[in-house]
Amino acid sequence: MDTITDIREMQRWADDHRRAGRRIGFVPTMGYLHAGHLSLVAEARRRSDVSVASIFVNPLQFGANEDLARYPRDLERDSAALHGAGTDVLFLPEVGAMYPEGFQTAVTVERVTTGLCGASRPTHFRGVATVVAKLFNLVKPHVAVFGCKDFQQLVTIRRMVADLGFDIDVVGAPIVREPDGLAMSSRNAYLAPAERRAARCLWRALMAAAALVDGGETDAVRIVAAAQRVLSAEPLARTDYAELVDPDSLEPVSAVRGPTLLAIAARIGGTRLIDNCVLANRRAEGSAVDTSN
Ligand code: AMP
Repeated sequence: MDTITDIREMQRWADDHRRAGRRIGFVPTMGYLHAGHLSLVAEARRRSDVSVASIFVNPLQFGANEDLARYPRDLERDSAALHGAGTDVLFLPEVGAMYPEGFQTAVTVERVTTGLCGASRPTHFRGVATVVAKLFNLVKPHVAVFGCKDFQQLVTIRRMVADLGFDIDVVGAPIVREPDGLAMSSRNAYLAPAERRAARCLWRALMAAAALVDGGETDAVRIVAAAQRVLSAEPLARTDYAELVDPDSLEPVSAVRGPTLLAIAARIGGTRLIDNCVLANRRAEGSAVDTSN
């Protein structure tokens, strides 16, 4: 595995492989990698000839009171994990090269970023879209893989790619979970042992709602209430939102008619966690869909 830090060198590498007719697969990350990230690398490798993973803790996507300064980092371990996963290039751009003096451009994706996480993190998705657009221009991938864990991010990137005409296939990969159901996340490292146990309530809330839908319930208010009951029964958890939305537009729905996204965010102590699953009315659809694994 090569490590590239220089953005011009990254572009030259991409140009060389494109000229040779190779398909470039790309997985952008903020590092502190876990099995969820590595599943994206495996998916990118399946769909390409050469693969790039980036690690860049993007200051633009953190709000003023968020965890940029203490975001977990372990470059040595990440580099070994990516090497073991068969990544061809680890791209490690520096903040000063990504956002040099005078940088003043942003990509704003409008409607899909206003609800869910966008409501409490109003500048987050602009930071995500801007950095991903720039990374796309540096890595020049044919295919880019994103996790369904950050479902609103995936929808935002799909929208940006369609709206701005990026010639890139955007692939959504399933959520990888711990054995007890907690979605893997770099931020799980913040959880104290009691908080880690409490964090299971997100998965239990999703499953309570899924069970109701499997039993034939279609009413969004009752389904969301079932998830909220589980979250509010956990003393260490504070719900940020629990919402049923259309998985493409992210607009709220009043009933589960086809595949519907149940998205939740909750604070466990000082750590904000998100999770989701796609629910479907078994009677209407013939099956319940779950993005969890
Ligand atoms: P991050 O490093 O948190 O910015 O995440 C980088 C990529 O990994 C994003 O596309 C995430 O959606 C994805 N990801 C994070 N956690 C998981 C998980 N548990 N399962 C699958 N993908 C994930």
